[in-house]
Amino acid sequence: MAVEAPAVIHLVPHTHWDREWYEPFQVFRMRLVELVDELLDSMEADPRLAFTLDGQVATIDDYLEVRPEARPRIERLIAEGRLAIGPWQILMDEFLVSGETMIRNLEIGWRAATAYGAAMPVGYLPDMFGHIAQMPQILRRAGIRHAVVWRGVPAAVDRHAFTWRSPDGSAVRAEYLVGGYGNGAYLLAIPDRLAEKVGRYVDASRAFYGDRSILAMYGTDHAVPSRALARIVDEANARRDDIVVRIETLTSYIQAFDQAAADPDQPDPAVAPLWTGELRSAARANMLMNVTSARIDIKMAAARAERALERYAEPWAALHGETWPDRLLELAWRRVVDNSAHDSICGCSQDAVVDQVLTRFAEAEQIGQGVVSAAIRPLAAASPAGSVVVVNPSPFERTDVVEVELDVPAAWDAVELELPDGSRSATQLVERPETVLRRLRLTGRQVPELFARRLHGRELFGHSLDGHLVRRDGPDPQLVLMMDDPAAPADFDVDALLDAVAAEAAADPDQEWDVVVARGDRRRLAAAVRVPALGATSIRAVEASSAATPTATANGGSNGLGVVEVADRSLDNGLVRIAVAEDGSYDVDGGGSRLTDVGRLVDGGDFGDAYNYGTPADDQKVDVPSVVVVKPVEHGPVRGSLEIVARYDWPVGLRADGHARAEQTTPVEVTTRLELRTGEPFVRVAIAFTNPARDHRIRYHVLLPAPTHHSSAEGQFAVVDRGLTSEAGHGEVPTPTLPAHGFVHAAGVTVLLEHVTEYELVDGRELALTVLRSTGLISRNDNPFREDPAGPEVPVPDAQLLGPWRFGFALMPHRRDWDDGGVLAAAEAFHLPFVTATGRGSRDAMPAEAAGIRIDGRGVVLSALRRRGDELEIRVVAETREATRAVVAGPRPIRRARDVDLLGRNGVDVEPEADGALVVPLRPWEIRTIRIAFDPNAPRTSHRGSTRSQGKIARPM
Ligand SMILES: [Zn+2]
Repeated sequence: MAVEAPAVIHLVPHTHWDREWYEPFQVFRMRLVELVDELLDSMEADPRLAFTLDGQVATIDDYLEVRPEARPRIERLIAEGRLAIGPWQILMDEFLVSGETMIRNLEIGWRAATAYGAAMPVGYLPDMFGHIAQMPQILRRAGIRHAVVWRGVPAAVDRHAFTWRSPDGSAVRAEYLVGGYGNGAYLLAIPDRLAEKVGRYVDASRAFYGDRSILAMYGTDHAVPSRALARIVDEANARRDDIVVRIETLTSYIQAFDQAAADPDQPDPAVAPLWTGELRSAARANMLMNVTSARIDIKMAAARAERALERYAEPWAALHGETWPDRLLELAWRRVVDNSAHDSICGCSQDAVVDQVLTRFAEAEQIGQGVVSAAIRPLAAASPAGSVVVVNPSPFERTDVVEVELDVPAAWDAVELELPDGSRSATQLVERPETVLRRLRLTGRQVPELFARRLHGRELFGHSLDGHLVRRDGPDPQLVLMMDDPAAPADFDVDALLDAVAAEAAADPDQEWDVVVARGDRRRLAAAVRVPALGATSIRAVEASSAATPTATANGGSNGLGVVEVADRSLDNGLVRIAVAEDGSYDVDGGGSRLTDVGRLVDGGDFGDAYNYGTPADDQKVDVPSVVVVKPVEHGPVRGSLEIVARYDWPVGLRADGHARAEQTTPVEVTTRLELRTGEPFVRVAIAFTNPARDHRIRYHVLLPAPTHHSSAEGQFAVVDRGLTSEAGHGEVPTPTLPAHGFVHAAGVTVLLEHVTEYELVDGRELALTVLRSTGLISRNDNPFREDPAGPEVPVPDAQLLGPWRFGFALMPHRRDWDDGGVLAAAEAFHLPFVTATGRGSRDAMPAEAAGIRIDGRGVVLSALRRRGDELEIRVVAETREATRAVVAGPRPIRRARDVDLLGRNGVDVEPEADGALVVPLRPWEIRTIRIAFDPNAPRTSHRGSTRSQGKIARPM
């Protein structure tokens, strides 16, 4: 009888490094430095040791910032194949950041790891709270064929390996970390019983691994490996001949599967089971699903920063900027990527950590805004003073409402906005700002002193001094200082003005003067403006004359769009109608769908923590206001709004035992603003209140027009369909509260979201959005909804989120599915408002529209557009269930194009069409990255000139 080969335990020494969590970054970093110091000493002392540094290069960067001299030691260990680092920069959460943020995470991490020696070619995702549907595609498009996962793996996966597939068909071989990323942490802890422990581990793992080859992750959170590890392993091996323990990196464990595969480029079809789509099951590990609604302020900041970089700063600097601010963008992205760490973005960290997260997002957003301003500056300089430049961030022409403040002569009755082609747009007066900025009583003697003390160049009280007027027809002489006159020449001589005023005042030094600091008549106006794809246009105020308004329709609408009609309790823009009832709820009609009794606001107790919501045993919900006042705020025709002020009495918190809500209540006024704009098929909803209560959850309910069994949620390059329940098994109550990034759709309504938002399809009848969740602990040991704590019971008083809050979204009623109702175009309009900049040019002529790039195609969504050397890199995703194509057309013909992977490698040439456009066929849900170069010698086509696609594909989305 042949002797059977021994079973092999592949022992992967590692640590899981939460960069910041229940301690701030700098505190954990000092521990990291100690750990890596010791690790390097151990590994140099014993060549048998190997180590896997948690799949994130941040650990190396953070260490070398303190110990720069250690870099050669680290590089040597990587070169020897004993230290595995990367491929990520940081171990992110996948559901709470944008898909693009994850790609940048991989891009930064891969580049850094390669610079140190090599990146681990494994999609190591050990602690994320579930996994997105498109992760296999992201990995494959970065040349990575393997994922390693733990949380979220469903009960259907009953082996240690499975084939994990994205909706586009891309698949990876996924290794399931049975028992977690620390499953072998205590395997060798008791030296006297090594033989027994090793045998027990093999027995316990048999169900998932079979007998022969078992992975043991030796390490846990922030853990230092034993210096004596290799000796202990030798002892274990000496005591048994049926089991061999091998010290390895995760790279070598995983690569063995590639070597065994017939075609390493394809996942082994024998690796069953097959799972397609996201992993969000709590079958064998906590899902911690309510991090989505913890510290909602972080989610708001994340969305602002990501959109500022992805859809404004990079495309605008790439297409219209004079220089490409590579280093600034890198700094901004580093902050966003650092914040994507799973404990950071989740809001399950100490208050000091959250403060730092918010600061990083603010810095990223500030850089983004600065880059946009710089990119628009040449356009503003070419547009005359008194005009405004309007910028469209979408890769297709859009007509959107902008609000601008313009100089308008007081005598003009009605105002229109004129575009460069002479077309006009009707306006709505929002406000006439006060013309008198300041009024002073000064003696003739004091007048020159005013200028001596307060005038800086031409600047006086924050405005530009552009002229003056002396009036002597009243009881006292009056000096009018005229500020911010758009007609004033750039070289206006202030000294001449000062001399003239001084001469007037000197005549009688004791005479009292009425000094009026005034500016010309201005108006804040709202109007719908048409702007070319990723381009800009200029607008200026002109006096409305009914005879010469070709595009301003007689009923006051503009660009052929409907007029917004406002009554005491209703709004109507021809596409959507809203009627508010006495109790403050409202009906919303549009797109063949009628929503009734919308807007119920439900306040309930929360005895949970940052990770898991928990209902108090005896919860009392408050959803009926005591007083409701409704009033129109804006009256159309361009924009109309109603304000609903509802007063509630919310319990101040929970009873001490957490089983019920406090007896004591506190009054709160919730203001809901409903806004319709001309041409928009959705109503914008903003809920504002000052949160006075602790330990509670506030949800906004939309009663669906028909019951349904599923919802569709947009996020991370996919729209995923989800049912009414979530799988559980590990001792966590499977509340089917789920994250959505861009929008969520259910029977008859799409909700467009400002930021990642938690939703639940309650009994298939109501869609509930979590507006705010207040909690006071990172993890509660006796959370009623979770057996196993998710972290230490550390107080986080700031997570109660007391104080003023605003929560915004839009309701789009329609009877079609999300992919058949103009949802993607509406989401683009809702998420990406036009940007405006004041014209500063000296010429009076309006410049022509600035053309950008058009990207057309059903379901095609732009993810990134940036400069890479002398090429433009464009990343699109096909958010559609059917094959489609992207047609890219620029202001000049495209001379060459190539397909690259997510890391910008492996370019394959793509032939542009004869007319200089590029047609890119896309599979359903495919993510594609292409690089293009324009023909610099060809004449610029007008923004509509290259619209070969216009006839073929009428609507880009
Ligand atoms: Zn972690």
